[in-house]
Amino acid sequence: MKCRVCRGPAVIDVRRHNAAFCRDHFVVHCREQVRRALSDHHMLGPDDRVLVAVSGGKDSLALWDLLVELGAAPDGLYLGLGIGEYSDESGQYARAFADARGLTLHEVDLGADWGFTVPDAAAATRRVPCSACGLSKRHLFNTFALEHGYDVVATGHNLDDEAAVLLGNVLRWDVEYLRRQAPVLPTAPGFVRKVKPLVRLGEREMAAYCVLQRIDYQVEECPMAAGNRHLRFKDVLNSLEDSSPGTKAAFVQGFIERGHAYFDDDQTDASPDLRRCAECGAPTTAEVCAFCRLRVRATRS
Ligand code: SF4
Ligand SMILES: [Zn+2]
Ligand SMILES: [Zn+2]
Repeated sequence: MKCRVCRGPAVIDVRRHNAAFCRDHFVVHCREQVRRALSDHHMLGPDDRVLVAVSGGKDSLALWDLLVELGAAPDGLYLGLGIGEYSDESGQYARAFADARGLTLHEVDLGADWGFTVPDAAAATRRVPCSACGLSKRHLFNTFALEHGYDVVATGHNLDDEAAVLLGNVLRWDVEYLRRQAPVLPTAPGFVRKVKPLVRLGEREMAAYCVLQRIDYQVEECPMAAGNRHLRFKDVLNSLEDSSPGTKAAFVQGFIERGHAYFDDDQTDASPDLRRCAECGAPTTAEVCAFCRLRVRATRS
């Protein structure tokens, strides 16, 4: 196996590109994919203050590294979810990454700062933990960015994540989620811009990037992921990709380029009848926002 660029020994093949790369040219390939995503979708302006949502996993740390290399000067925000040892270790990986590179990592802790953890919220709502977790992440990353003067939150959703979410949305024809599934959600009143610069890179590429760049990351799966239906969708998509390399990229890129327009009356995070949450001031369609309602339920016992 030879590198497509220099013909030296390759360390990884990327079947959907029908290409193999040596270490250096694989890193260049990853940077180029992120650079293209940033530029194709106008994700970042020259003076934007960028906040990376850091979990301590491969995607968010690779994203942080890539954005630094591309000159975006991003800071990180780690959100402690209170999922036992998994969260403790994830935080350590995030801190070690930031310390080694002299980067700024902010931290918010659901338990210490908001009085409940993801397991508390899951028990109180009797729903899969990922729904309370996702809601808390969306709310707290957005609120932190607004309060600290960041223009944009960058998340580590990769091609595999986007393909799995898209499959789930299509299987249910969830039009509202399809409308909001985009590589960029523009700024709106009460919302900073959200961008997904890894949308052109797969899970396997992000793991390889971390290994080759010597980035230590949380390898363990979240122990609360068991009920997450996106894991099943990823299995299905992986078997399709095995027999037809490029399927996931065609599915996601095709949706972004041609499909999304059918759902695209308004791409913002905002809904028309937004008002301010009576508790925290965040935009909401109800009297009290979903995060504040979750907090009340999860801290009640
Ligand atoms: S798997 Fe679910 S509970 Fe675990 S971090 Fe991800 S969204 Fe949160
Ligand atoms: Zn090479
Ligand atoms: Zn609120």
